[in-house]
Amino acid sequence: MQATDERVNLLGLTPSRLRAWFAEMGEKPFRANQVLKWVHQRRVDDFDAMTDLAKSLREKLKEIACIQPPEVVLDQESGDGTRKFLLDTGSGNSVEMVYIPEDDRATLCISSQVGCSLTCTFCSTGRQGFNRNLSTAEIIGQLWVAERLIEQRLPTGKAISNVVFMGMGEPLLNEQAVVDAAELFLDDHGYGLSKRRVTISTSGIVPAIDRLGERLPISLAISLHAPNDELRNELVPINEKYPLDVLMAACDRYAKVVPHGAILYEYVMIDGKNDTLEHADEMVALLGPRREEVKVNLIPFNPFEGSGYERSSRNRIMRFAKRLRDNGINTVARKTRGDDIDAACGQLAGQVADRSRRQDRLARMGLDRGVVEVTES
Ligand code: SAH
Ligand code: SF4
Repeated sequence: MQATDERVNLLGLTPSRLRAWFAEMGEKPFRANQVLKWVHQRRVDDFDAMTDLAKSLREKLKEIACIQPPEVVLDQESGDGTRKFLLDTGSGNSVEMVYIPEDDRATLCISSQVGCSLTCTFCSTGRQGFNRNLSTAEIIGQLWVAERLIEQRLPTGKAISNVVFMGMGEPLLNEQAVVDAAELFLDDHGYGLSKRRVTISTSGIVPAIDRLGERLPISLAISLHAPNDELRNELVPINEKYPLDVLMAACDRYAKVVPHGAILYEYVMIDGKNDTLEHADEMVALLGPRREEVKVNLIPFNPFEGSGYERSSRNRIMRFAKRLRDNGINTVARKTRGDDIDAACGQLAGQVADRSRRQDRLARMGLDRGVVEVTES
């Protein structure tokens, strides 16, 4: 159970845990539903405002519980309406989340870990190292706090309709907290989002993909980025543990339960690295037989200092997309959003005190941020 000081942070309790907690106090389950609605639908953080609860229950809750979201320490808006928030996660660390309004929806991109323990070479989170998992309260708290900030601007702002775990961290390496949070995102007493509108993006943690399919089959995005094992081992090193044939078999199992029947495959377009027509043909060989249950998203690589990679040109991206489409593979080439405030995919930096040995290794290779800044100035 989540505790902030001595009190339980209600933001971290799933509907079933909250009901059990109320039962332990001798309260009826419907009280839990009332509290869920106050907390998640009206986004109240003051028990006195929960006017349909008995005064005695409110007093009791004040003593033993709290509603404590992560603190927003920076709120930056891009020219295209994208908003990036920096959230304090204590001990000098922070994570980022991004709000992306579009014509027909608004998506909140949230983080699951402080940093990431994986080491994808094109990802700035991966370069920074890993500090810790976010708690359920910190994950749910991101949606809670974003809804509050966005609704201050309604009706001009657009309400959040989609949530994607595409911020910092590998969600399926913080499985329990992420699944608990997603459960509340779907719950009618929570945020009431449909399974289609909550997406987990993963670099391919195969056993966790299978468990997700059994427990909570929400939308799934796979960070593919390479059509063969040799290149994927280099770009997405977790591929050595779960190679493409193993990953694709898990995706085939998931495709049977996924909402609207399609899995999204993300493919970051890196100039000269994975964007040739030969690579496109390998993609066709890999995904063509599955074309009914596949959607490919080509993401222009978002550069960051010292990455050593460059973004593919628009022409190369279009050429790649055309080859996939000509072979019947549903393909979109994503626009980059929030570029001017570094809010695009893979640029979410936050602040991470690395607790793995990665910074030492990178420093030896001259790839840590400090060294790069010195060489460039
Ligand atoms: N760890 C998860 C989710 C977070 S990353 C995952 O890897 O899927 C969200 C998406 O951004 C992933 O597809 C990731 O590969 C992509 N990404 C990371 N760095 C990027 C960069 N520099 N440019 C473009 N996309 C990037
Ligand atoms: Fe981690 Fe995803 Fe970045 Fe890879 S792409 S390092 S899994 S956050």
